[in-house]
Amino acid sequence: MTSDLFPNFGDSIGVYVHVPFCASPCSYCAFYKELPRKPLLKSYVSVLEEEWKMRHCSEPIGTVFFGGGTPSLLSCSAFHKIRQFLPIDPKILVEWTVECNPSTLSLEKLQTFADIGVTRISLGVQSFSEKFLGILGRRQSAAQIFHAYDMLRKFSFDVNLDLIFSIPGQRLRHWEEDLKTAVQLGPDHISAYHLTLEKGTKFTEKYATRVGSGERFHRLAVSYLVSSGMEHYEVSNFAKKGKRCIHSVNTWRMGEWLAIGPSGASQYRGRRFQNISNLEKWMDGIFQKNPIEVEVQAIDQSTLLEDTIIFGLRMRDGIPLATMDLMECSKSQKYRCKFSQWCDAGLLKKTATHYALTDRGMLLADALALEIL
Ligand code: SF4
Repeated sequence: MTSDLFPNFGDSIGVYVHVPFCASPCSYCAFYKELPRKPLLKSYVSVLEEEWKMRHCSEPIGTVFFGGGTPSLLSCSAFHKIRQFLPIDPKILVEWTVECNPSTLSLEKLQTFADIGVTRISLGVQSFSEKFLGILGRRQSAAQIFHAYDMLRKFSFDVNLDLIFSIPGQRLRHWEEDLKTAVQLGPDHISAYHLTLEKGTKFTEKYATRVGSGERFHRLAVSYLVSSGMEHYEVSNFAKKGKRCIHSVNTWRMGEWLAIGPSGASQYRGRRFQNISNLEKWMDGIFQKNPIEVEVQAIDQSTLLEDTIIFGLRMRDGIPLATMDLMECSKSQKYRCKFSQWCDAGLLKKTATHYALTDRGMLLADALALEIL
């Protein structure tokens, strides 16, 4: 597969670093995670470096994203070490995000981020209400969130705030309070996600019947944040002008990214694969120079087109017509027929450059994506 199938990011790729440590697991979360024991943290960084060498990545790095888990649990020296082995050219890098838990930030850590070239911090707020933070089992207090935000603003990072709605017991007025507080802080970006009920968690057993569809919460987020001057550029994401998350946009546009670390999922050189979600097995695989990958899939033209449409529909800009042409395949005609029906129903519009959902279609983005599947 040649890079012209990934048309939105020039020659560069995104690099994702998965940091699987959480000091205190949140009750709603089913992500793979480990407690941050010191010896594990130390060997994690060394093995990460080994994996990086083993992947033989020669493409220029356009974006970096540290996700987790809780990346901000890593020490300052760990961040410096990772910076040393990632061949980042500051003239090419356009964005470097680190996901942070408010309770793990300090001025020293933020200074380290600034020193190594981090440009963007994504702060896991979820809610400003002590009551709802408690229900979610989050580690931080509201006071810690405000303190973390104050510290962040002493630096020149772009800041994203992650929020969650449809928390059990949450009413629209509580959600509006969270939105209002977030906007008053003045972040560059807000992600507002519906609470996901993960199978097998105690949280889901306890609250399964108390989490609704969230449609009214989502509508409120859209109207509140758009009237506050933010651009609604993806179903769950809002940004000030010029402050979209470029790393995410690259993945939604089916660009290429390479993930390192346990559980990291890649789309790279024509393959999709995920590193095993087990720290020790991941380390063993790297030691034996045989990374353990799961969900391995060769990407063909039709898979790429289908995902381009599904993720493109979730974006306000929609799906570039040029991309549709570039990824022409046996299913293209079927999709064009579907688009024509949606245009007739007022759910989709065709501009000179894109197919994009209308406001009404945007509210049905998930259901329309299912029709494509
Ligand atoms: S910090 Fe994030 S990854 Fe860790 S348990 Fe909480 S929600 Fe899950």
